[in-house]
Amino acid sequence: MKSEIPLSVPVIRGNEWKYVKDCLDTGWVSYVGDYVGKFEKAVAGYVGAEYGVATVNGTCALHVSLVACGVHSGDEVIVPVLTFIAPANAVKYCGAEPVFMDCDPRTLCLDVEKTANFIKDKTIRKRDGFTYDKDSGRRIKAVIPVHIFGHPTDMSVLVEICAEKNIDIIEDATESLGSKYKRKQTGSFGKTGCFSFNGNKIITTGGGGIVVTDDGKLAGKIRHLTTQAKSDPLEYVHDEVGYNYRLSNIQAAMGVAQMEKLDEYIAIKRRNASLYKNLLSGLDEVEFLWEMPRAKSNFWFYTIRVHKDDKNLLIKHLISKGIQVRPIWKLLNTLPMYRNYTAYKIEAAKEAYSTCINIPCSVDLTEAQIERAVKVIKGYFKS
Ligand SMILES: *Cc1c(COP(=O)(O)O)cnc(C)c1O
Repeated sequence: MKSEIPLSVPVIRGNEWKYVKDCLDTGWVSYVGDYVGKFEKAVAGYVGAEYGVATVNGTCALHVSLVACGVHSGDEVIVPVLTFIAPANAVKYCGAEPVFMDCDPRTLCLDVEKTANFIKDKTIRKRDGFTYDKDSGRRIKAVIPVHIFGHPTDMSVLVEICAEKNIDIIEDATESLGSKYKRKQTGSFGKTGCFSFNGNKIITTGGGGIVVTDDGKLAGKIRHLTTQAKSDPLEYVHDEVGYNYRLSNIQAAMGVAQMEKLDEYIAIKRRNASLYKNLLSGLDEVEFLWEMPRAKSNFWFYTIRVHKDDKNLLIKHLISKGIQVRPIWKLLNTLPMYRNYTAYKIEAAKEAYSTCINIPCSVDLTEAQIERAVKVIKGYFKS
């Protein structure tokens, strides 16, 4: 029996042990240690943002961004219908409601043309300067574009229309650390950019996240909110309802070591993506999702598209041969708690769900493993 090829596992072979040991040896284990600041600087610097505030995970980074930007109970936030669930949940934590938007079939990211059409047709700008949903009467305070599997959202249109309509962009760049859109890093377009360092992301701290922003006041507010809104160095004075959302020094230490490897990991991910693409190119039944012109993906996850009649059978076939693959996310508006929210002209996302499969993508993946995975895919279509 041949060994399994995992979908996505972390690679830890840099200075992780050394830096974590340093935390343990010195006793600086909580969020007040040096590595937290180093990690924040490293990530913000890499992304090209002024400030970084590390958080316990990517979901918290999204939540605290929304709170800091003033998303309130009763507001609406535009969220892709095809994404990992975290951004929709973060909206709900604020007491706000998601408005689900379709995806662009080429990137699987938010369809920005449809978003623009929705904003033009379905909203009005009121005298208070905000944009309101004509049907529900609710204020549309923000939009959360998600750079799906590392592919950048088409940000030009979105940035323009959101500036015009006073809608904040909170970027969910949790999957796209190091991806670029028109030479600019994802996570640096929005009012804030959020990243995750969960175990299956391109780099990991075990669990962790960060908010980056160029706005010093906002960064201060986020830092304050993530440390229980404590406002006196000595006394227990708290001036609003805060959160315990700060990353620990131990995790940050691991993050500093992982950041040292990021460029190498991205190069490997991109090289392996090319290899898959080339090996699959002769097979008419399979399309390998590639990046758009002017976009550079970190290729965090690899996605193939097949006929909908083949999707589930191919998944079963690959798993039976020890190749870990997964369907992409169920559309959020089909899940029980999100069934009753606005979902605007959802078409491409349905098609994407019924045709797309994620295939093994670990940084450690060998050429032989990629060849084997492709051979098994080809085998399915030959039989
Ligand atoms: C991973 C991920 C997050 C955040 O995940 P955490 O596990 O909370 O760090 C948010 N959004 C998307 C799209 C993700 O893939």
